[in-house]
Amino acid sequence: MRPSLLDPLFARLTSLQGIGPKLEKLFTRLFDREEGGARVIDALCHLPTGAIDRRNQPALRDVVADSIVTVRVRVDQHRPAPPGRSRAPHLIYVSDDTGSMVVTYFHGNARRLEQQFPVGEWRTVSGTVALYDGMLQMVHPDRIVSDEDLAEMPPVDPVYPLTEGLGPTPVRRTVEGALAKMPELPEWQDATWLRQRGWPSMRMAFAAIHKPQAPADVDPASPAWSRLAYDELLASQFALALVRAQMRRPAGRRVAGDGRLRAKVIAALPYALTGSQTRAVDEIVADLGAPQRMLRLLQGDVGSGKTVVALLAAASVIEAKKQATLMAPTELLARQHYATIAPLAEKAGISVALLTGRERGAERKQILSRLVSGDLAMVVGTHALFQDEVAFKALALAIVDEQHRFGVHQRLALTRKGDAVDVLVLTATPIPRTLVLSYFGDMDVSQLREKPPGRQPIDTRTVPLARLEEVVEAVGRAIDTGQRVYWVCPLVTESEDSDLAAADARFAFLKSRFGTAVDLVHGQMRGSEKDAAMARFASGQSRILVATTVIEVGVDVPEATVMVVEHAERFGLAQLHQLRGRVGRGSARSTCLLLYKAPLGETAKARLAIMRETEDGFRIAEEDLRLRGEGDVLGTRQSGMPGFRIARLDVHGALIEAARDDAQLMLQRDAQLTTERGKALRHLLYFFERDEAIRMLRAG
Ligand code: ADP
Ligand code: MG
Repeated sequence: MRPSLLDPLFARLTSLQGIGPKLEKLFTRLFDREEGGARVIDALCHLPTGAIDRRNQPALRDVVADSIVTVRVRVDQHRPAPPGRSRAPHLIYVSDDTGSMVVTYFHGNARRLEQQFPVGEWRTVSGTVALYDGMLQMVHPDRIVSDEDLAEMPPVDPVYPLTEGLGPTPVRRTVEGALAKMPELPEWQDATWLRQRGWPSMRMAFAAIHKPQAPADVDPASPAWSRLAYDELLASQFALALVRAQMRRPAGRRVAGDGRLRAKVIAALPYALTGSQTRAVDEIVADLGAPQRMLRLLQGDVGSGKTVVALLAAASVIEAKKQATLMAPTELLARQHYATIAPLAEKAGISVALLTGRERGAERKQILSRLVSGDLAMVVGTHALFQDEVAFKALALAIVDEQHRFGVHQRLALTRKGDAVDVLVLTATPIPRTLVLSYFGDMDVSQLREKPPGRQPIDTRTVPLARLEEVVEAVGRAIDTGQRVYWVCPLVTESEDSDLAAADARFAFLKSRFGTAVDLVHGQMRGSEKDAAMARFASGQSRILVATTVIEVGVDVPEATVMVVEHAERFGLAQLHQLRGRVGRGSARSTCLLLYKAPLGETAKARLAIMRETEDGFRIAEEDLRLRGEGDVLGTRQSGMPGFRIARLDVHGALIEAARDDAQLMLQRDAQLTTERGKALRHLLYFFERDEAIRMLRAG
């Protein structure tokens, strides 16, 4: 149960004064809380991106143009816009003993302005001052306060990320409301460590950032922010340490076989393994043969050949008369893996079946009973494999093709289906080492950095949407020569419905040009329809496949040589890289056309330039990290992986190791979190919603 101290923070945002359903909806969007709506804690953790310094309070004589100043002035005279000329500004002439200035409002309500600035009274105004016609001018001051209220004017205003329809004032007020709900929590940090670092309590840290006294207070490197980042890292490392402890607890067994089946699989391959594939298999087999349980991450770019490594790992345990499972995040991917694996497995004499939500009735029953009896050596599937009815005779290896969609607890759920199950996680995004540590804990890592031989470089070009017609013609030429084309439709952020609408429209347009050569696949199609469309494309029956991004991962059609991405500027680097990886899988020369809407912003421009420059996924991931921060490298939003809301790996990365050591130490000393400090730590885990760890404690 969540400590009740935290309840006000997990209450809906509407529990704050002034937040009704309409504002709540906007905040839900701002906080990216699709399910469940905005909560108080989301506002609390909505940290500023900068600050406006209002401490510069010169006399008018000393004001420097084009700076933000706060000045105390007397109201001398109003000059409202002449009647009928609403475009003319409302001018308010003000002065102090040293000089004068004009305060300017466009579209101002004259009556209200006259109340706000009564002639003859003093007001303190804060805003940007410019020189206009030789006179100091402040347009639309940010703050206007009377002498009585002066004490309440903050010296520094935090600046928050906003969203359409939500201006700075409601966001600031809401965050202030949330801050007022933040209780003083029992301290989980080591007192000495806090003192050494000069870190405040959690509550004081939030206060320092949301009510800055100086712009440096909102710097992520500030003591307050660092404290919160460390808290978040500690929560995450503790959760990971628990998972690891749980997984390691039953000692693993030696299950590597004699190599007999592996040799058969390798003999059945139409190609030779790359050096890095061989190395990865060796590393995995060594783990399987060691008494300690395996927890290994296989990192490899799109098309680097992870599937066959996975199969060889499975073969190794099957040689030892054990079972293996491979779980993929989507049905399409599961089928793809199955299609690759089944023929090779057959040649090696390994029995394998596919189990997704679609295998039903007698077929399903038969698969389930063959798994229990041990007749079936391997099963490939989706999360359908988690279900309780799925039981194994001797599951020894769980391979999880993560593509960032599964979380820690799903991995665990699979391992519970066997005794001391070894775990191999496949991931397509080449995550930098620091991120591996923070997202996966200290797993061992194998990397496939080498591409299978014979691949030609992909010719990547960026083309403005205005030249769509040329692209269509080029696509026409490509299919005339027997090539196949993916056409990925714009990512529309609002909803999947509009993703679909965009794809539908493009599909209709291309169909009017190329007739039955065009096919469509999207996320709302039934599984069998998707398969049918993919099969038509794979067989060449259709040659242009219009797709929403829903199908971005895992599709493998070596004959596809052209990838068109519309509105490429809306995609993240990792996603573009994934999409491009769909082509260039065969020996023919491939092209990737990134259509963008001009003009491009700086970041989008940089992203597209990197895409043109390199195909090296590891480099792209590093650039991505540099350009946009770590959350997006992993596409946290789509991923369902534990993301960080406060810690920035570029700033706080150095704290990860300390947090990991701290977490491990706490776990050793107080595994059930029953001491004073342990109880305090429970608050932290709930605060950062690492509840899965708490559940594990109870199970443990
Ligand atoms: P990933 O899962 O890493 O994206 P796949 O395992 O799907 O990549 O492999 C991509 C393609 O490369 C498949 O068609 C596969 O048959 C092929 N492939 C894998 N390894 C090699 C290799 N060593 N040499 C040539 N082709 C390979
Ligand atoms: Mg694959």
